[in-house]
Amino acid sequence: MRCKFCGRDMVKVVTPFKRPVKGEMITVKDIEVYRCPGCGATFFPNETIKHTGRKVGEKLLKVAKERGRIKDEKEHLREMEEQKKIDIEDGIKRGEYKKKKDAPLKVFT
Ligand SMILES: [Zn+2]
Repeated sequence: MRCKFCGRDMVKVVTPFKRPVKGEMITVKDIEVYRCPGCGATFFPNETIKHTGRKVGEKLLKVAKERGRIKDEKEHLREMEEQKKIDIEDGIKRGEYKKKKDAPLKVFT
């Protein structure tokens, strides 16, 4: 993996992911990213994006449940799926991407 900014070889590192999402500090441990020893740029492989997105989703759901914001988990997931479909269709309408599979993966939802 070569750095797209400075061209040096990037190094695979395992690091925790920590970020505030919807007002909650979400941590996902041991995500795999590539880091450039030259300029410090970080590259997130697709697998990592998928993995992190899934974990962040699970954690948000857990927090929301603990705080009593969600009563029915399945119902909530169904609503989120519906919203995702609408978002993708809107994106297609706006010409941001052509097909569903071109839609960007959301990490920081
Ligand atoms: Zn670099």
